[in-house]
Amino acid sequence: MSEEKSPLYLFLDANPAMVPDIPGGHGDGWNDVVLEALKKLQALSVETGVGIKIRQIKEKFGGLRLYIQVDEEDSLEDLQVVQQTTGHVRLTPGASAGSVRERAYAIVREAEDAAAARCETCGASPGPLRNLGGYRCRMCDACLAKRGGEARDLRETR
Ligand SMILES: [Zn+2]
Repeated sequence: MSEEKSPLYLFLDANPAMVPDIPGGHGDGWNDVVLEALKKLQALSVETGVGIKIRQIKEKFGGLRLYIQVDEEDSLEDLQVVQQTTGHVRLTPGASAGSVRERAYAIVREAEDAAAARCETCGASPGPLRNLGGYRCRMCDACLAKRGGEARDLRETR
């Protein structure tokens, strides 16, 4: 591999405070989305003086998951936004309107939605969720074919 280092990883090198606590993983097609979210979270933290820790960034069930901890007053536990499906977002209590936490959640949601519109491998428009060896993935036809995946629309199964 002689590819240039992704701007995402250059950013993480330069901003160790934004490196996730827990190892995760996702395809390079989502790097830009993750980078933009990290920059926004960093800017929000600087603007408000509230610490925002990145707990984990990973792919799960074909979607991007970005887990954060917002050290805002009344923050009693690690917080996470879990988007089960498009349009279904679970928010942990305490994200009152206008709070730093709510603004951070909005950044996370935006990134997760943006990732859903990109092939995890190359960033192209991915089409519906696919089946790759029994795993759900967000991948375009070309990348899926390279991986030997099955171009089946998971919405049509089950
Ligand atoms: Zn692709």
